[in-house]
Amino acid sequence: MKKQWSLVLLSLVSFSLPAHHSQAANASGSNRTYAEVQAFLANLAKKSPSAAQVVNVGMNDTGQMIQALKTGNGPVANIVVATHHGNEYGSTEVALALAESLATSPITGQTVYVIPVLNVSGYNQKQRQELGQDPNRNYPGPCGTGGPFTLKSTKALADFIAQKNIVASATLHTHSPAVVYPWGFSTHDLETRYNGLYIDLAKAATVESGYDVGNSRDLLYAADGCYEDYAMVEHGIWSLLFELGTSHSPTASAVEHMKQVNVPGIRRFLTQAPTKRAEHHAFEGKCDTTRDGQRRRED
Ligand SMILES: [Zn+2]
Repeated sequence: MKKQWSLVLLSLVSFSLPAHHSQAANASGSNRTYAEVQAFLANLAKKSPSAAQVVNVGMNDTGQMIQALKTGNGPVANIVVATHHGNEYGSTEVALALAESLATSPITGQTVYVIPVLNVSGYNQKQRQELGQDPNRNYPGPCGTGGPFTLKSTKALADFIAQKNIVASATLHTHSPAVVYPWGFSTHDLETRYNGLYIDLAKAATVESGYDVGNSRDLLYAADGCYEDYAMVEHGIWSLLFELGTSHSPTASAVEHMKQVNVPGIRRFLTQAPTKRAEHHAFEGKCDTTRDGQRRRED
């Protein structure tokens, strides 16, 4: 009898929990595997076949396919990439929420690719690195800093942004919170020719979140070999890096908040970004890597 009552009480308790709580707990990412991320994308494509398709970006070093959701059919191609760092599952959750938003309501005139997980091995193991390497120090940067490509994942992304003629990109990480722009490597000359425009774009991206905006090196730390500098210096791609939220291990409600304040901001950035790549994208400063070459934090 006692046992039956406690069972009844137990079911009452679980039914009285808000319905979104248990879903959000799963959606916090601690339980979501890469296979489930792929299933989520496939389901979005199935629900909105004219607006969304799953595309292959390339194979990683352990034979797993990195996938993106392609949304919209417009002539300007942009990209959003989450989880260079495998432990930053909050960024994958924001990318999936963005993918859902774009599949439901594509941005006029654009094709936007969303890669929820770049570092598949690290994501499944909840580790920052991929095969013992930091993917976001793996890109050849200005002044010979960073890289060279030693991971198939980063090379696959580099080939993809070249093939698709990507114009603007957002990369998603945790945590600071901040939205930053090039240059981010260890240099004294931090400003691109487009510093004012970058500030405007970062401010547009943070209307809801209120995150700090600034030059990457100044606001966070110098990082040699990051994707954002590579995309800018190699192609003139307008590149913002989002350091989402305030933790590498956000709670379910923190993940919900990250989604609510960042999906509209990322959409606004993509909408307001120039529709052509930056013309003057070479690094024009002095190559002097003596300044703050070391990483102070790991975000
Ligand atoms: Zn990161």
